[in-house]
Amino acid sequence: MDREFDCVIFGAGVAGTSAAYRLASLGRRVVVLAGDRAGSPTGSPTQPPICTGGVSPAVAKLLDFDLTPAIDCVVRDVRYAWKDDAPVSMQLDAAQAMWMVRRDRFDALLRDKAIAAGATFEPVTAKGARLVEVEGDRRWCVKTPAGELTAAFAIVADGARSTALRWVGLPRPTVRSAVSLELAAPPDEVPRVDFVLGEIDRGFLWCFPKQGAVSLGAATFIGEGDPELADRLVAYAARRGWQAEKANVRQRPIALWSGDRVLNAERALVAGDAAGLSDPVTAEGIRSAIDSGLQAGAAIGAALDGQTGALRGYTRQIQQTWGTDYAWASRLAQALYRFPGAAYKLATQKRKASQLMSKVLCGELRYSEVVELGIAKLMKKLLPWE
Ligand SMILES: Cc1cc2nc3c(=O)[nH]c(=O)nc-3n(C[C@H](O)[C@H](O)[C@H](O)COP(=O)(O)OP(=O)(O)OC[C@H]3O[C@@H](n4cnc5c(N)ncnc54)[C@H](O)[C@@H]3O)c2cc1C
Repeated sequence: MDREFDCVIFGAGVAGTSAAYRLASLGRRVVVLAGDRAGSPTGSPTQPPICTGGVSPAVAKLLDFDLTPAIDCVVRDVRYAWKDDAPVSMQLDAAQAMWMVRRDRFDALLRDKAIAAGATFEPVTAKGARLVEVEGDRRWCVKTPAGELTAAFAIVADGARSTALRWVGLPRPTVRSAVSLELAAPPDEVPRVDFVLGEIDRGFLWCFPKQGAVSLGAATFIGEGDPELADRLVAYAARRGWQAEKANVRQRPIALWSGDRVLNAERALVAGDAAGLSDPVTAEGIRSAIDSGLQAGAAIGAALDGQTGALRGYTRQIQQTWGTDYAWASRLAQALYRFPGAAYKLATQKRKASQLMSKVLCGELRYSEVVELGIAKLMKKLLPWE
Protein backbone atom coordinates (compact mmCIF):
# COMPACT_ATOMS: atom_id res chain seq x y z
CA MET A 1 0.00 0.00 0.00
CA ASP A 2 1.12 3.59 -0.71
CA ARG A 3 2.62 5.51 2.13
CA GLU A 4 0.58 8.67 2.66
CA PHE A 5 1.88 12.01 3.93
CA ASP A 6 0.62 15.59 4.22
CA CYS A 7 3.81 16.88 2.62
CA VAL A 8 6.84 15.48 0.83
CA ILE A 9 10.07 17.54 0.85
CA PHE A 10 12.71 17.10 -1.83
CA GLY A 11 16.13 17.85 -0.29
CA ALA A 12 17.55 17.68 3.25
CA GLY A 13 19.69 20.83 3.26
CA VAL A 14 18.91 23.72 5.60
CA ALA A 15 15.76 24.74 3.68
CA GLY A 16 14.28 21.24 3.58
CA THR A 17 15.05 20.39 7.22
CA SER A 18 13.66 23.77 8.43
CA ALA A 19 10.45 23.20 6.46
CA ALA A 20 10.18 19.69 7.92
CA TYR A 21 10.72 21.02 11.44
CA ARG A 22 7.93 23.60 11.04
CA LEU A 23 5.42 21.16 9.51
CA ALA A 24 6.16 18.38 12.01
CA SER A 25 5.83 20.90 14.87
CA LEU A 26 2.37 21.71 13.48
CA GLY A 27 1.51 18.01 13.85
CA ARG A 28 1.64 17.27 10.12
CA ARG A 29 2.88 14.01 8.57
CA VAL A 30 5.97 15.04 6.65
CA VAL A 31 8.59 13.00 4.80
CA VAL A 32 11.96 14.37 3.65
CA LEU A 33 13.64 12.61 0.75
CA ALA A 34 17.21 13.00 1.96
CA GLY A 35 19.26 11.75 -0.94
CA ASP A 36 21.54 13.85 -3.13
CA ARG A 37 21.68 14.23 -6.92
CA ALA A 38 23.83 11.12 -7.22
CA GLY A 39 21.35 9.05 -5.21
CA SER A 40 23.57 8.78 -2.09
CA PRO A 41 22.21 9.73 1.33
CA THR A 42 22.63 13.45 2.15
CA GLY A 43 25.91 14.20 3.90
CA SER A 44 27.54 10.90 2.89
CA PRO A 45 31.36 11.16 2.91
CA THR A 46 31.44 11.12 -0.91
CA GLN A 47 29.15 14.17 -1.11
CA PRO A 48 29.78 16.46 1.91
CA PRO A 49 28.11 19.90 1.64
CA ILE A 50 30.13 22.49 -0.32
CA CYS A 51 29.69 25.58 1.81
CA THR A 52 32.12 27.70 3.82
CA GLY A 53 29.69 27.78 6.75
CA GLY A 54 29.62 31.46 7.75
CA VAL A 55 26.29 32.00 9.52
CA SER A 56 24.68 35.24 10.55
CA PRO A 57 23.80 35.27 14.27
CA ALA A 58 20.36 36.50 13.13
CA VAL A 59 19.35 32.87 12.44
CA ALA A 60 19.00 32.42 16.22
CA LYS A 61 15.87 34.58 16.00
CA LEU A 62 14.32 32.33 13.34
CA LEU A 63 14.41 29.07 15.30
CA ASP A 64 12.98 28.21 18.71
CA PHE A 65 15.84 25.89 19.70
CA ASP A 66 19.49 26.37 20.62
CA LEU A 67 21.95 26.24 17.71
CA THR A 68 25.11 26.65 19.79
CA PRO A 69 25.97 22.89 19.79
CA ALA A 70 26.54 23.24 16.02
CA ILE A 71 28.73 26.36 16.19
CA ASP A 72 32.39 25.59 15.54
CA CYS A 73 33.67 29.04 16.53
CA VAL A 74 32.52 32.66 16.81
CA VAL A 75 34.59 35.36 15.09
CA ARG A 76 34.84 39.09 15.72
CA ASP A 77 37.99 39.95 13.73
CA VAL A 78 37.19 40.90 10.14
CA ARG A 79 39.58 42.16 7.46
CA TYR A 80 38.81 43.66 4.06
CA ALA A 81 41.62 43.71 1.47
CA TRP A 82 42.35 44.66 -2.11
CA LYS A 83 44.54 41.86 -3.55
CA ASP A 84 47.72 41.60 -1.47
CA ASP A 85 47.57 45.20 -0.23
CA ALA A 86 47.55 45.82 3.50
CA PRO A 87 44.07 44.87 4.74
CA VAL A 88 41.70 47.12 6.66
CA SER A 89 40.80 45.45 9.98
CA MET A 90 37.77 45.86 12.15
CA GLN A 91 36.41 44.31 15.31
CA LEU A 92 32.75 43.35 15.33
CA ASP A 93 30.63 43.99 18.43
CA ALA A 94 29.81 40.84 20.39
CA ALA A 95 26.22 40.90 19.06
CA GLN A 96 27.47 41.06 15.46
CA ALA A 97 30.06 38.26 15.77
CA MET A 98 29.80 35.78 12.89
CA TRP A 99 29.17 32.11 13.59
CA MET A 100 31.33 29.58 11.82
CA VAL A 101 29.75 26.16 11.38
CA ARG A 102 30.60 22.89 9.68
CA ARG A 103 27.63 22.25 7.46
CA ASP A 104 27.46 18.51 8.12
CA ARG A 105 27.07 19.15 11.88
CA PHE A 106 24.79 22.16 11.42
CA ASP A 107 22.45 20.35 9.00
CA ALA A 108 22.47 17.26 11.24
CA LEU A 109 21.30 19.35 14.21
CA LEU A 110 18.37 20.74 12.17
CA ARG A 111 17.54 17.22 10.94
CA ASP A 112 17.59 15.80 14.50
CA LYS A 113 15.22 18.57 15.66
CA ALA A 114 12.86 17.84 12.75
CA ILE A 115 12.93 14.10 13.57
CA ALA A 116 12.30 14.83 17.26
CA ALA A 117 9.29 16.92 16.19
CA GLY A 118 7.96 13.91 14.24
CA ALA A 119 9.31 14.23 10.66
CA THR A 120 10.37 11.13 8.70
CA PHE A 121 13.67 11.20 6.78
CA GLU A 122 14.28 8.67 4.01
CA PRO A 123 17.87 8.50 2.65
CA VAL A 124 16.74 8.29 -0.97
CA THR A 125 16.50 10.53 -4.03
CA ALA A 126 13.13 10.73 -5.76
CA LYS A 127 13.06 9.36 -9.30
CA GLY A 128 10.02 11.40 -10.34
CA ALA A 129 6.81 12.99 -9.07
CA ARG A 130 3.45 13.81 -10.63
CA LEU A 131 0.03 14.98 -9.50
CA VAL A 132 -2.59 12.23 -9.61
CA GLU A 133 -6.33 12.08 -8.88
CA VAL A 134 -7.04 10.16 -5.62
CA GLU A 135 -10.69 9.89 -4.56
CA GLY A 136 -11.56 13.22 -6.13
CA ASP A 137 -8.47 14.93 -4.68
CA ARG A 138 -5.15 15.84 -6.29
CA ARG A 139 -2.06 14.37 -4.59
CA TRP A 140 1.63 14.06 -5.37
CA CYS A 141 2.64 10.52 -6.29
CA VAL A 142 6.41 10.20 -5.81
CA LYS A 143 8.59 7.34 -7.06
CA THR A 144 11.57 6.48 -4.87
CA PRO A 145 14.00 3.53 -4.86
CA ALA A 146 12.14 2.38 -1.71
CA GLY A 147 8.74 2.38 -3.45
CA GLU A 148 6.00 4.94 -4.05
CA LEU A 149 4.54 7.43 -1.63
CA THR A 150 1.81 10.03 -1.89
CA ALA A 151 1.50 13.46 -0.32
CA ALA A 152 -1.07 16.26 -0.43
CA PHE A 153 1.66 18.91 -0.91
CA ALA A 154 5.33 19.12 -1.91
CA ILE A 155 8.22 21.43 -1.04
CA VAL A 156 11.11 21.70 -3.48
CA ALA A 157 14.32 22.28 -1.49
CA ASP A 158 16.92 20.39 -3.51
CA GLY A 159 19.30 23.28 -4.02
CA ALA A 160 20.69 25.38 -6.88
CA ARG A 161 20.71 22.54 -9.42
CA SER A 162 17.21 21.38 -8.50
CA THR A 163 15.70 18.40 -10.30
CA ALA A 164 12.31 18.63 -8.57
CA LEU A 165 11.48 22.10 -9.98
CA ARG A 166 10.82 20.37 -13.30
CA TRP A 167 8.20 18.11 -11.68
CA VAL A 168 6.26 21.06 -10.22
CA GLY A 169 6.56 23.06 -13.47
CA LEU A 170 8.75 25.96 -12.31
CA PRO A 171 12.03 27.15 -13.90
CA ARG A 172 15.44 26.74 -12.26
CA PRO A 173 17.08 29.80 -10.66
CA THR A 174 19.91 31.66 -12.36
CA VAL A 175 23.21 30.36 -11.01
CA ARG A 176 26.77 31.72 -10.81
CA SER A 177 30.09 29.91 -10.37
CA ALA A 178 31.46 29.27 -6.90
CA VAL A 179 34.25 27.16 -5.44
CA SER A 180 35.40 26.19 -1.97
CA LEU A 181 38.48 24.67 -0.42
CA GLU A 182 39.02 23.38 3.12
CA LEU A 183 42.59 23.45 4.48
CA ALA A 184 44.23 22.55 7.74
CA ALA A 185 45.09 25.80 9.53
CA PRO A 186 48.63 26.36 10.79
CA PRO A 187 48.60 26.21 14.62
CA ASP A 188 49.48 29.93 14.96
CA GLU A 189 46.75 31.10 12.55
CA VAL A 190 44.63 33.90 14.10
CA PRO A 191 40.93 33.01 13.68
CA ARG A 192 39.49 35.82 11.59
CA VAL A 193 37.36 36.44 8.54
CA ASP A 194 38.97 37.82 5.37
CA PHE A 195 37.07 39.35 2.46
CA VAL A 196 39.39 39.94 -0.53
CA LEU A 197 38.49 42.01 -3.60
CA GLY A 198 40.52 42.26 -6.80
CA GLU A 199 41.46 38.55 -6.94
CA ILE A 200 38.30 37.34 -8.70
CA ASP A 201 36.85 38.96 -11.80
CA ARG A 202 33.35 40.34 -10.93
CA GLY A 203 33.39 38.64 -7.56
CA PHE A 204 35.39 38.16 -4.40
CA LEU A 205 37.23 35.63 -2.31
CA TRP A 206 36.73 34.90 1.38
CA CYS A 207 38.39 32.91 4.18
CA PHE A 208 36.38 31.66 7.15
CA PRO A 209 38.14 30.09 10.15
CA LYS A 210 37.14 26.79 11.75
CA GLN A 211 38.73 24.97 14.66
CA GLY A 212 42.04 23.74 13.21
CA ALA A 213 40.98 24.58 9.67
CA VAL A 214 40.22 27.39 7.27
CA SER A 215 37.49 27.37 4.61
CA LEU A 216 38.16 29.40 1.49
CA GLY A 217 35.45 30.37 -0.95
CA ALA A 218 35.30 32.36 -4.17
CA ALA A 219 32.43 33.29 -6.46
CA THR A 220 31.52 35.35 -9.49
CA PHE A 221 28.57 37.63 -8.79
CA ILE A 222 27.68 39.14 -12.16
CA GLY A 223 27.91 37.90 -15.74
CA GLU A 224 29.68 34.79 -16.95
CA GLY A 225 31.67 32.66 -14.52
CA ASP A 226 35.42 33.02 -14.17
CA PRO A 227 36.86 29.76 -15.65
CA GLU A 228 39.96 30.18 -13.49
CA LEU A 229 38.17 30.44 -10.16
CA ALA A 230 39.82 27.28 -8.77
CA ASP A 231 43.35 28.34 -9.88
CA ARG A 232 42.89 31.76 -8.32
CA LEU A 233 41.81 30.24 -5.01
CA VAL A 234 44.84 27.90 -4.95
CA ALA A 235 47.23 30.75 -5.91
CA TYR A 236 45.81 32.93 -3.12
CA ALA A 237 46.17 30.11 -0.57
CA ALA A 238 49.79 29.56 -1.64
CA ARG A 239 50.57 33.28 -1.16
CA ARG A 240 49.14 33.02 2.37
CA GLY A 241 51.60 30.15 2.96
CA TRP A 242 48.86 27.48 3.07
CA GLN A 243 49.37 24.09 1.37
CA ALA A 244 46.65 23.84 -1.28
CA GLU A 245 45.98 21.40 -4.13
CA LYS A 246 43.71 22.23 -7.05
CA ALA A 247 42.35 18.67 -6.92
CA ASN A 248 40.77 19.50 -3.54
CA VAL A 249 38.89 22.58 -4.78
CA ARG A 250 35.17 21.82 -4.98
CA GLN A 251 32.82 23.50 -7.39
CA ARG A 252 29.09 24.13 -7.01
CA PRO A 253 26.86 26.79 -8.53
CA ILE A 254 25.39 29.43 -6.27
CA ALA A 255 21.79 30.62 -6.69
CA LEU A 256 22.12 34.38 -6.18
CA TRP A 257 18.85 36.33 -6.16
CA SER A 258 18.30 37.84 -9.60
CA GLY A 259 14.72 39.10 -9.40
CA ASP A 260 11.48 38.03 -7.76
CA ARG A 261 10.22 34.62 -8.88
CA VAL A 262 6.94 32.77 -8.57
CA LEU A 263 7.60 30.25 -5.80
CA ASN A 264 4.24 28.50 -5.72
CA ALA A 265 2.82 25.93 -8.11
CA GLU A 266 -0.15 23.59 -7.90
CA ARG A 267 0.13 21.97 -4.44
CA ALA A 268 3.84 22.88 -4.22
CA LEU A 269 6.25 25.53 -2.91
CA VAL A 270 9.96 26.20 -3.47
CA ALA A 271 12.47 27.18 -0.76
CA GLY A 272 16.17 27.97 -0.30
CA ASP A 273 18.63 27.84 -3.20
CA ALA A 274 16.05 26.17 -5.46
CA ALA A 275 14.14 29.45 -5.07
CA GLY A 276 17.27 31.52 -5.91
CA LEU A 277 17.47 33.19 -2.49
CA SER A 278 21.20 33.74 -1.85
CA ASP A 279 22.34 37.30 -1.15
CA PRO A 280 23.54 38.94 -4.41
CA VAL A 281 26.29 40.91 -2.58
CA THR A 282 27.70 38.41 -0.10
CA ALA A 283 26.45 34.95 -1.31
CA GLU A 284 25.02 34.34 2.17
CA GLY A 285 22.27 31.75 1.66
CA ILE A 286 21.88 29.80 4.90
CA ARG A 287 19.72 32.43 6.63
CA SER A 288 17.29 32.87 3.73
CA ALA A 289 17.14 29.08 3.20
CA ILE A 290 16.13 28.53 6.85
CA ASP A 291 13.65 31.40 6.75
CA SER A 292 12.05 30.34 3.46
CA GLY A 293 11.91 26.70 4.64
CA LEU A 294 10.09 27.75 7.82
CA GLN A 295 7.73 30.03 5.87
CA ALA A 296 7.03 27.29 3.30
CA GLY A 297 6.22 24.85 6.11
CA ALA A 298 3.86 27.36 7.72
CA ALA A 299 2.13 28.13 4.39
CA ILE A 300 1.54 24.45 3.67
CA GLY A 301 0.27 24.01 7.22
CA ALA A 302 -2.22 26.81 6.51
CA ALA A 303 -3.23 25.23 3.17
CA LEU A 304 -3.81 21.89 4.93
CA ASP A 305 -6.06 23.78 7.36
CA GLY A 306 -8.11 24.84 4.31
CA GLN A 307 -6.81 28.40 3.93
CA THR A 308 -7.22 29.25 0.24
CA GLY A 309 -4.48 31.45 -1.19
CA ALA A 310 -1.91 30.25 1.39
CA LEU A 311 0.51 29.08 -1.34
CA ARG A 312 0.23 32.30 -3.35
CA GLY A 313 0.66 34.17 -0.07
CA TYR A 314 4.04 32.43 0.38
CA THR A 315 5.42 33.92 -2.86
CA ARG A 316 4.27 37.38 -1.71
CA GLN A 317 5.71 36.86 1.75
CA ILE A 318 9.15 35.87 0.39
CA GLN A 319 9.13 38.86 -1.95
CA GLN A 320 8.42 41.12 1.03
CA THR A 321 10.95 39.49 3.37
CA TRP A 322 13.80 39.01 0.88
CA GLY A 323 12.99 40.32 -2.61
CA THR A 324 12.42 43.96 -1.70
CA ASP A 325 15.73 44.17 0.11
CA TYR A 326 17.65 42.06 -2.41
CA ALA A 327 16.57 44.51 -5.14
CA TRP A 328 18.72 47.11 -3.30
CA ALA A 329 21.48 44.53 -2.79
CA SER A 330 21.53 43.83 -6.53
CA ARG A 331 22.20 47.50 -7.29
CA LEU A 332 24.97 47.51 -4.73
CA ALA A 333 26.43 44.34 -6.32
CA GLN A 334 26.49 46.04 -9.73
CA ALA A 335 28.52 48.91 -8.28
CA LEU A 336 30.82 46.70 -6.23
CA TYR A 337 31.62 44.04 -8.82
CA ARG A 338 31.73 46.18 -11.95
CA PHE A 339 34.06 48.74 -10.39
CA PRO A 340 35.63 46.82 -7.50
CA GLY A 341 38.79 48.95 -7.27
CA ALA A 342 36.91 52.23 -7.04
CA ALA A 343 34.26 50.74 -4.75
CA TYR A 344 36.90 49.30 -2.42
CA LYS A 345 38.72 52.62 -2.25
CA LEU A 346 35.59 54.63 -1.55
CA ALA A 347 34.28 52.09 0.98
CA THR A 348 37.53 51.78 2.95
CA GLN A 349 38.07 55.56 2.96
CA LYS A 350 34.73 55.72 4.73
CA ARG A 351 34.99 53.39 7.67
CA LYS A 352 31.24 53.72 8.06
CA ALA A 353 30.71 51.67 4.87
CA SER A 354 32.40 48.52 6.22
CA GLN A 355 30.66 48.94 9.56
CA LEU A 356 27.31 49.12 7.76
CA MET A 357 28.11 45.96 5.77
CA SER A 358 28.90 44.12 9.02
CA LYS A 359 25.50 45.15 10.35
CA VAL A 360 23.85 43.73 7.23
CA LEU A 361 25.75 40.45 7.64
CA CYS A 362 24.62 40.05 11.25
CA GLY A 363 21.03 40.93 10.36
CA GLU A 364 20.90 44.23 12.27
CA LEU A 365 20.35 46.28 9.10
CA ARG A 366 18.64 45.77 5.78
CA TYR A 367 20.20 46.85 2.46
CA SER A 368 17.48 49.47 1.98
CA GLU A 369 18.52 51.06 5.30
CA VAL A 370 22.21 50.90 4.34
CA VAL A 371 21.49 52.78 1.14
CA GLU A 372 19.61 55.44 3.09
CA LEU A 373 22.45 55.63 5.60
CA GLY A 374 25.17 56.60 3.19
CA ILE A 375 25.96 54.03 0.50
CA ALA A 376 23.64 55.95 -1.83
CA LYS A 377 26.37 58.54 -2.48
CA LEU A 378 28.91 55.81 -3.20
CA MET A 379 26.53 54.12 -5.64
CA LYS A 380 25.78 57.45 -7.37
CA LYS A 381 29.50 57.95 -7.92
CA LEU A 382 29.93 54.47 -9.40
CA LEU A 383 26.64 54.12 -11.25
CA PRO A 384 25.62 57.71 -12.15
CA TRP A 385 22.99 56.44 -14.63
CA GLU A 386 21.05 54.51 -11.95
C1 LIG B 1 31.16 27.57 -2.37
C2 LIG B 1 29.99 28.04 -1.57
C3 LIG B 1 30.17 28.60 -0.32
C4 LIG B 1 29.07 29.07 0.43
N1 LIG B 1 29.30 29.62 1.65
C5 LIG B 1 28.25 30.11 2.36
C6 LIG B 1 28.47 30.67 3.65
O1 LIG B 1 29.59 30.71 4.15
N2 LIG B 1 27.38 31.15 4.31
C7 LIG B 1 26.11 31.12 3.80
O2 LIG B 1 25.16 31.60 4.43
N3 LIG B 1 25.89 30.58 2.58
C8 LIG B 1 26.92 30.05 1.87
N4 LIG B 1 26.70 29.47 0.66
C9 LIG B 1 25.31 29.34 0.19
C10 LIG B 1 24.62 28.19 0.94
O3 LIG B 1 25.43 27.03 0.88
C11 LIG B 1 23.26 27.90 0.32
O4 LIG B 1 22.55 29.09 0.10
C12 LIG B 1 22.43 26.99 1.24
O5 LIG B 1 23.11 25.77 1.43
C13 LIG B 1 21.06 26.74 0.63
O6 LIG B 1 20.40 25.75 1.36
P1 LIG B 1 19.38 24.76 0.64
O7 LIG B 1 18.86 23.87 1.70
O8 LIG B 1 18.44 25.53 -0.19
O9 LIG B 1 20.26 23.96 -0.40
P2 LIG B 1 21.43 22.91 -0.12
O10 LIG B 1 22.13 23.21 1.14
O11 LIG B 1 22.20 22.83 -1.39
O12 LIG B 1 20.62 21.56 0.11
C14 LIG B 1 19.96 20.90 -0.95
C15 LIG B 1 19.94 19.45 -0.60
O13 LIG B 1 19.23 18.76 -1.62
C16 LIG B 1 19.98 17.62 -2.01
N5 LIG B 1 19.63 17.26 -3.39
C17 LIG B 1 20.22 17.64 -4.52
N6 LIG B 1 19.58 17.09 -5.55
C18 LIG B 1 18.56 16.39 -5.06
C19 LIG B 1 17.55 15.62 -5.64
N7 LIG B 1 17.50 15.46 -6.95
N8 LIG B 1 16.63 15.06 -4.81
C20 LIG B 1 16.72 15.22 -3.47
N9 LIG B 1 17.67 15.94 -2.87
C21 LIG B 1 18.58 16.50 -3.66
C22 LIG B 1 21.42 18.03 -1.84
O14 LIG B 1 22.27 16.90 -1.71
C23 LIG B 1 21.34 18.83 -0.54
O15 LIG B 1 21.42 17.98 0.57
C24 LIG B 1 27.76 28.97 -0.09
C25 LIG B 1 27.56 28.39 -1.35
C26 LIG B 1 28.66 27.91 -2.09
C27 LIG B 1 28.43 27.29 -3.43
